[in-house]
Amino acid sequence: MDGADLPIIIVGGGLGGLTTALALGRAGRRVRILEQAPEFGAIGYGVQLGPNVVPMFDRLGITAKVLDNADMPEACVMLDAYSGEEITRLALGASFRERFRHPYIIVHRVDLHRVLTDACRTRPEIAFEPAVAATGFEDRGDRVIVQTADGTCLEGAALIGADGLHSTVRAKLRQEGEPHQFGYVAQRTLLPMPAVPDPVPRRNVYMWAGPGFHVVHYPLRHGAEFNIVAVYRTSTFADRLAERDHRAEVKRTFAGAHAAIQAMLAMMNFERRWPLADRDPIRHWHKGRVTLVGDAAHPTLQSLAQGACMAIEDGVCLAALIDLADGDFERAFAQYEAERYVRTARLQLESRYMWGIYHAEDIARDVVRQTFAERTEEDLFRCLAWLYDGFSIPARLR
Ligand SMILES: Cc1cc2nc3c(=O)[nH]c(=O)nc-3n(C[C@H](O)[C@H](O)[C@H](O)COP(=O)(O)OP(=O)(O)OC[C@H]3O[C@@H](n4cnc5c(N)ncnc54)[C@H](O)[C@@H]3O)c2cc1C
Repeated sequence: MDGADLPIIIVGGGLGGLTTALALGRAGRRVRILEQAPEFGAIGYGVQLGPNVVPMFDRLGITAKVLDNADMPEACVMLDAYSGEEITRLALGASFRERFRHPYIIVHRVDLHRVLTDACRTRPEIAFEPAVAATGFEDRGDRVIVQTADGTCLEGAALIGADGLHSTVRAKLRQEGEPHQFGYVAQRTLLPMPAVPDPVPRRNVYMWAGPGFHVVHYPLRHGAEFNIVAVYRTSTFADRLAERDHRAEVKRTFAGAHAAIQAMLAMMNFERRWPLADRDPIRHWHKGRVTLVGDAAHPTLQSLAQGACMAIEDGVCLAALIDLADGDFERAFAQYEAERYVRTARLQLESRYMWGIYHAEDIARDVVRQTFAERTEEDLFRCLAWLYDGFSIPARLR
């Protein structure tokens, strides 16, 4: 078969991989998505999405379905983790929607994933291949050969690595070490709303900031569920702790924190935790017929809750350029990373900066409080405009 007649292979069925597949499928391009997990699905927690992704959903034809499953908080409130005092408040209501033209939304990842997979399944161009782990690839110039864990070799017109922070595709493209660990872990818990303890505010997105730790929470599924993420610094970040030791560590770390935090910790799920990592930004993440999207290309800390948003923007941008270049993958991939690297690098670097702000200690903490106290709503909107004003999908090749 001529290389041009082969499907494009996407490795990874997360939000980045599915978005890319859907955008390509809608443009009439054939795609095979390989996912190592036995089923295409997401981990069962929440995700916040900025207004910048809504135009991406418009292009994918799924905005109404996403919004049906989503909630729109009125504010994102930062509180002092000990006193409970308000440090700052980003209004997300009418003034926000007027300024940024689209809402800020919170949605269950499983629901968002389902909207995307349902939309993909309506496209005959898209083939799902669960339980297939890519282990390597070869770029033959006119096609790619993807090797999988069971020894099969798959032929594709091009390869898109959407395989996340520990990307196999990236590891074969670039000689570099492991992602940068920060010594922090995240713990996620989902509760039915009636189980949420009394002192915990429920309606909006709340972020309790403390020295070396923070807790984020918000409602999901129209108030039926409640999502909690507790993040903290620990020397055991790389270890798997027994549940008892894990509990003891959390108790020590959050000692003295506000009663609402203590009440949430008492309900926390100690089965699993995620060590948090990112990478330094890079300018180039393609070679020949192979490129990357999402965390594989530019993994970031979650301080601005935008990693998934960037993966979605990447997918739409990349598909538009592949369509414009009509088979000239090298050209499409070069323009794609040129269009995307400054925005995604800015997110990576600002997220690191915000990480320091959230976890500030001692005098730095006082400085953060005073700085935020001086900021007006307009100031906050201005700081976030580069991100929330969105990304223009290129309409022509350079
Ligand atoms: C605690 C926490 C909270 C977050 N909150 C937010 C938020 O509120 N808003 C936001 O925008 N972002 C958030 N993020 C970031 C967001 O989760 C990620 O940026 C996003 O999921 C990246 O999507 P992705 O598709 O690039 O990668 P992933 O979601 O990691 O998907 C990669 C997929 O590839 C598959 N895979 C991996 N290797 C292979 C292989 N060799 N072969 C086949 N398949 C493979 C994996 O199984 C997985 O399904 C948060 C992150 C964390 C840790």
